[in-house]
Amino acid sequence: MRLEGKAAIVTGAGQGIGRTTALALAREGADVLVAEVNPETGQKTAGEVRALGRKAVATRTDVTRLDDIRGMVDTAVTTFGRVDILVNNAGILKVQDIFAQNEADWDRTFAVNVKGVFFCLQEAARRMREQKSGVIVNMASIAGRGGRPIMVDYAATKTAVISITRSAALALAPYGIRVNAVCPGIVDTAMWDHIDEIWGMQMLGLPRGEQRRRRLQAIPLGRLEQPEDVAKAIVFLCSDEADYITGQALNVCGGLEMD
Ligand code: NAD
Repeated sequence: MRLEGKAAIVTGAGQGIGRTTALALAREGADVLVAEVNPETGQKTAGEVRALGRKAVATRTDVTRLDDIRGMVDTAVTTFGRVDILVNNAGILKVQDIFAQNEADWDRTFAVNVKGVFFCLQEAARRMREQKSGVIVNMASIAGRGGRPIMVDYAATKTAVISITRSAALALAPYGIRVNAVCPGIVDTAMWDHIDEIWGMQMLGLPRGEQRRRRLQAIPLGRLEQPEDVAKAIVFLCSDEADYITGQALNVCGGLEMD
């Protein structure tokens, strides 16, 4: 048990990578606050964490709302007495042709993926600073390493997450707080169902699943990434095994991206 006695917050933990990460942290001994904009899925994940024998609480948190973020950290402190880990996972993506990109979608993507990440980090770090310890893992993407023609806003937000990770690692190191990011590749979640449907089926006229299969052929390790692959890397970065690692953005993508 690498995270025995730790208290973790995972945003967007109602499904996908966030849910799997919440359960992986719990299996390593952490109690978990499930921060989720969808109260139904948030409660479900919290129940699954409790079934693993750990404490769990779910908050209805929209990471674009500063009041919600303060409430999330307050609830973690009230429930667990501390905040040791923040996994800044919540994120959204909408596939759009570059000429169809509109202002409202641009603003929304940046609000969730960048503003949300920064202010969750800031609020959790206030508490970690008092404790003189803490670990933050931000969810970037290999899309933030290179260009993406049909998700210009999304790719830009993930580059911003890598930048925030580096700046925050420098700012928070004196307080004993480590900050890293993970950059997953093509993960088998609802997000990729959306990409396959809009990019593959609507834009390219391909049958369902075909665009995902084509992308799969480019993965050196030869299989689609599962949420567990990302969760394992996050658990490592949260553990003492990574206690000399900060300010890094770790590609977890089966070799799809190497820079
Ligand atoms: P998903 O859509 O399955 O899950 C996202 C979760 O975030 C959902 O539970 C959703 O309700 C929640 N959420 C959305 N907006 C929110 C908000 N404003 N406040 C709080 N919660 C909110 O997506 P996923 O594939 O599990 O992706 C999780 C993270 O991993 C995202 O940041 C995503 O960009 C990143 N990522 C995913 C992939 C992939 O291929 N699936 C690849 C690289 C990075």
